[in-house]
Amino acid sequence: MIVGIGAAAGALGMWAAGGTWQDIQHLGQPRNVMIVDGESVRVPVTVSDGERLAPEVAVSTSGAHTFLFEENGEPTRYDPCVAHAWVYNPEGMPEGADGLVAEAFDNIAQYTGLVFSHEGNVDEPADFDRPLIQEEYGDRFAPILVGWSDEATTPGLEGTTAGLGGSSSVTGAFGQERFLAAGVVILDSEDFTNVLATDGGRDRAASIIRHEIAHVVGLGHVEDESEVMHTQNLAAVTWGPGDRQGLAIAGAGPCQ
Ligand SMILES: [Zn+2]
Repeated sequence: MIVGIGAAAGALGMWAAGGTWQDIQHLGQPRNVMIVDGESVRVPVTVSDGERLAPEVAVSTSGAHTFLFEENGEPTRYDPCVAHAWVYNPEGMPEGADGLVAEAFDNIAQYTGLVFSHEGNVDEPADFDRPLIQEEYGDRFAPILVGWSDEATTPGLEGTTAGLGGSSSVTGAFGQERFLAAGVVILDSEDFTNVLATDGGRDRAASIIRHEIAHVVGLGHVEDESEVMHTQNLAAVTWGPGDRQGLAIAGAGPCQ
């Protein structure tokens, strides 16, 4: 169960730099654009002071880990110098699942050194085909979205697949460097209802959600069953050495 998904979205052209205050440090540099709903949209500028928001997590373990996107031997990652918003669509949440998603983001923040901020609930359905930039979220990439679905709506959840997670790889506003953005986690209501009804079900459910958010921050699957990022994730409910190494690296990317 549980597949990593990454939609590749990219800058398809370039525009001359605009004249807003945000662009001053990039004066004369062409601004990347992307196509959203058939329209050219300038890639949102990330505003940060170029410093990490939280300390880098030291790599203290080693084991199997992979990344969903790599470019020139480096994984594509979220920018550690800005807080990454996440929103939640509670529609279809099984009984007993309260708090699991927020706890999972806290856990991923701890192991990556990335900073996440919960912006509240939305009614946007969790779908990998969502537009990367949406009017209701303003001039930025859409926040990370977590929601519930079923096999009929999301065929990827068929069988024992309890969740799906991933992000898009996009270029920054300037230059060629790529970053992750607009992550999505889709959880299977029925599978979680069943998992939560078993002994130790809450730990198991928590592990599945952490696995999916780990896909969002760029981790792929491994074949080592002692790792949470194992393809089936049937055994491990706590991060293994490879998971921890991968998460620390996922949080140690460059700032825009
Ligand atoms: Zn997976």
